[in-house]
Amino acid sequence: MKVLSVTSECAPLVKTGGLADVAGALPAALASQGVEMATLLPGYPAVLSQIESPRVVKDIDALFGGPARVLKTRLGQDATLFVLDAPHLFDRPGAIYTGPDGWDWPDNPQRFAGLSMAAAMIAADGISGSKKGKSRWQPDVLHLHDWQAGLTPVYLSEMGADGRVGTVLTVHNIAFQGLFPRDQMAALALPDRLYHSDGIEYYGQVSALKAGLVYADRLTTVSPTYATELMRPDFGMGLDGVLRSRAQDFSGILNGIDETVWSPPYGSADGKAEHRRALRKTFDLPETDGPLCVVISRLTAQKGFDLLLEAVPALLDGGGQLALLGSGDPQIENAFLQIAAQEPQVSVRVGYDEALSHRMMEGGDAILVPSRFEPCGLTQLYGLRYGTVPLVTMTGGLADTVIPANAAATAQGVATGFQVFPITAQALASELTKLCAVYEDKSHWRRLQKNAMAQPVGWGASAARYAELYRATAKG
Ligand code: ADP
Repeated sequence: MKVLSVTSECAPLVKTGGLADVAGALPAALASQGVEMATLLPGYPAVLSQIESPRVVKDIDALFGGPARVLKTRLGQDATLFVLDAPHLFDRPGAIYTGPDGWDWPDNPQRFAGLSMAAAMIAADGISGSKKGKSRWQPDVLHLHDWQAGLTPVYLSEMGADGRVGTVLTVHNIAFQGLFPRDQMAALALPDRLYHSDGIEYYGQVSALKAGLVYADRLTTVSPTYATELMRPDFGMGLDGVLRSRAQDFSGILNGIDETVWSPPYGSADGKAEHRRALRKTFDLPETDGPLCVVISRLTAQKGFDLLLEAVPALLDGGGQLALLGSGDPQIENAFLQIAAQEPQVSVRVGYDEALSHRMMEGGDAILVPSRFEPCGLTQLYGLRYGTVPLVTMTGGLADTVIPANAAATAQGVATGFQVFPITAQALASELTKLCAVYEDKSHWRRLQKNAMAQPVGWGASAARYAELYRATAKG
C-alpha cells in the first residue's frame, strides 16, 4: 500500500501548528502498519535549505504562473519526501501563509492550488524511478490535509484519474477554509460547471476545503468528538451540512504524538523537581509550594485565553504560578504581558520556541488548554506523557483524551487531569481552584500524574485506523 501525504507543513522542516507534527509523525507510524507513506511539501526557502541531496524526479512546465519541479529527498530516517520546487509560488520571505506585513499572501489560492495540482499529477502519472532499474512510484491513496490540499480530488477527477487513486481528506481545523472569489476559478483550472451549492461554491465564493469535503472519497478529522461537533451548526462554520451529508464517509481518528520527539527525561514524575527549579529560573518565577502551570500555544481567540485572563486570579489565590509561551493576536499578547508586569507569579514569553516548549513540559506541574474549540490538541497529550497534568475545556480532542478528576473517576482512581465545563471564565476559575487544592494533596496529585503517564498517547491505535481506512479507500 503506497500513500502520498499532501501537506502545507511538516515537522521538523516547517511548522505553524499541530498539522506539522501530525504530518511529520505519520510516515513512521504508518510504516509499522505496512503502509509506505511519502510526503509532498511545498518548497519554501526553509524547506529547500534543510533538505539533503535532492534529486529532480519530475518537471512541470507550467504550474499556475511558472515552471515547477518535484524534488525527491528523505524525511527522517526512512521516509520519502517530495518537495514541490515552484519559486514563483513558494520562494519568498515571510511566513508560509503570511507575508512580512502579517497578512495572508494574496495569491494563497494559487500557491496551494499548485500543491494540489502537483499532487494530482503525481497520483495520475506517477514519479519516474530516479535510479536505473527502479520502477515508477505511484500512490494507491492520497492523504490530503486541510484546505491547502483540498482541490486535489477535483483536479484528479478532471484528469479522469479518480477511478484509480483513492482520496482521504483530513480536516485539522474547520476554521481555515481556503476561500477565494469565483472569478479566480478559470485561472486555477476549475471549470465553471463546478460552481454550485453541491460542488465547490461556498456562500458566493469558492472554498478549497469544501471542494475536498465534496470530492474526496473519505473524510476524517482529528478526534471523534470534533467529528460529531463538526456536524453541528455551532461548530461546523457553515460546512456542517456538507459533513452531515457525508456522515457515512466521515470519521474521527485521534492524533498521536511522536514519542521519539516528546519523551520525558525521567521515568516517574518525581524526576520533575530539578526541571521545575530550572524552569522557574528561566521564567524568573520565585520558588513556591504551589503548582507551576504552563501554557504553550498560539494566542488566538480559538484558544480561549480571554477566559484564562479572567481566571488568573483564582490560580494565584490558590498559590499557583503561570509560565506562558505563545504568540499570535497582539491584544492577547499584550494582556498577558501586562499581567506579568504586575504579578510576580506570572511570567510570559512572547514568541515561538520549540526547545523551551520541551523544557516547559519537563518542569511544569500542569498544562492549561482552555480552548473554545479544539480539533484534537497536542499539548495536553505531551502533558499526559510528561506527567504535566492537563487542565482542559470539554471540547473536541480535549474531551476525548483527558479523564477529569470528578468524583466517579477519582473514586475509581482513573483520572488523568481536569476538565472545564461549561466553557466559561467562571468554570475555568473554579477548576483552577480545584487544581491548586488537589496539588496540596501530594498522594492524590501523584496518582493523577501516574495515570496520565500511563495513557497511550503514541500513534499505535490511530495508525492502525488510518491503515484500515487507506485499505478501504484504495481502488486498485
Ligand atoms: P494548533 O495546531 O491549533 O496550534 P495543537 O495543540 O494541535 O494546536 O498544536 C500546537 C503545536 O504547536 C504543539 O506542538 C505546540 O507545542 C506547538 N506550539 C504552539 N505554540 C508554540 C510556541 N509559542 N512555541 C513552541 N511551540 C509552540
